[in-house]
Amino acid sequence: MMRMSQILQKTKWAALSNAEIMKAVEEKQLAFYAIEQALAPDYDRAIEIRRDIVKKNWCPSSKPSHPLDAVPFQNYNWEKVVGQSCENIIGYVPIPVGVAGPLLLDGNRVSIPMATTEGALIASTHRGASAINSSGGCKTSVLKEGMTRAPVVEVSSLEEAAALTKFCEENFAVLKAAFESTTRFGKLNSIKTAVAGRKVYLRFTAFTGDAMGMNMITKGCDKALETLKEHFPSIRVLALSGNYCTDKKPSAINWIEGRGKTVIAEAVIKSDVVLKTLKCSVDDIVSLNVDKNLIGSAMAGSVGGFNAHAANVVAAVYIALGQDPAQVVESATCITTMNKVGEDLLISVTMPSIEVGAVGGGTGLTSQRALLECINCGGANEAEPGANARQVARVVAGAVLCGELSLMAGLAAGHLLSAHMNLNRKPQQ
Ligand code: NAP
Repeated sequence: MMRMSQILQKTKWAALSNAEIMKAVEEKQLAFYAIEQALAPDYDRAIEIRRDIVKKNWCPSSKPSHPLDAVPFQNYNWEKVVGQSCENIIGYVPIPVGVAGPLLLDGNRVSIPMATTEGALIASTHRGASAINSSGGCKTSVLKEGMTRAPVVEVSSLEEAAALTKFCEENFAVLKAAFESTTRFGKLNSIKTAVAGRKVYLRFTAFTGDAMGMNMITKGCDKALETLKEHFPSIRVLALSGNYCTDKKPSAINWIEGRGKTVIAEAVIKSDVVLKTLKCSVDDIVSLNVDKNLIGSAMAGSVGGFNAHAANVVAAVYIALGQDPAQVVESATCITTMNKVGEDLLISVTMPSIEVGAVGGGTGLTSQRALLECINCGGANEAEPGANARQVARVVAGAVLCGELSLMAGLAAGHLLSAHMNLNRKPQQ
């Protein structure tokens, strides 16, 4: 049986017509997923052929123009996508990008790029930034950083579970050396173990430089487990991820221990700015914060949802900056606090799990990279690895602060509905 790579080498695909290549895919001489590989570097042509296959076989349409024709695919830098960011490509979905700010954050003006389809979101974040700027800006603090991955292993006895746990504590240096042999930038910080019967969960936490770090840490864990198996040959690795990490799912462990970057942002908003720009009083907004973000969320049994709409801002910034949007689940956990200080308003957002990078994943795509450069975080920081990723996290926290301030003020003033009706619903023609 000839392997696909051999077939690809043997056939001069580029010399065939589109109809001939389609037929080859339909007859399984060329894999559906391998059209780009066969026609590289002519990715536009490869994608056009796949679209034709999909139009003909997957979703035929009787209309004169197929719905897929409205999905663009040309003039995109597929070189940066193929083999790393997307498979079975049929085009791209354009999402509007706006900007809020610039926000005075830690003494510097930063713009906040946001990709969204929710009218009023950027306007509201922008208003929050104005109010913060008028009061002297906001400041941020990165309290800790560490990406996590937690494989699950099966042991053969309870004694072995205890021995494994002890080994991880006493021989951390051995596992750290194995982990770090796979990466130039990853540094293993700790391994936290949890036992459930004969299953042991090992939560590795590592510094991952300017990368968000999921691939990096998974590779490191794999190597450390190899070393662990040399000492405990009878253990069985059930999965490299045992959900004790926890990636892309709600969990108390991330809320309590943090994942990625743990960041606080705060600002003191002058009482006259609260009144003039935000159209409410300090007392009203402080009181509403307790009733809604603290008591309301407690009544709902929330884990990490003690905020007004952090996920709105995090999702829009993540999409604009090429972050992994599924990680909004934990990245948007946030507690918003408000206090009256003298006559002014002290507002803060505490976000334990901001998972961001300046290299890797979608951060290398042309538009996303350009927007990262707009906030001076494009790519690796050669002088201080990790500094660019930390700055992305600070910008995310600052943007959330703007969003929390503005929405809470809108609610306190009773403006939420009118803002959405004006900006989120175009009058019907
Ligand atoms: P990555 O692109 O896989 O790894 C980062 C790469 O950049 C490494 O090769 C690293 O080198 C290099 N690098 C160069 N300069 C660096 C610097 N200053 N700091 C850090 N690294 C630097 O990115 P990743 O963040 O680990 O993984 C991100 C991707 O993982 C995303 O596409 C995301 O969607 C996906 N993901 C994966 C999983 C999973 O389970 N594997 C889960 C969720 C998401 P070294 O390797 O030598 O350090």
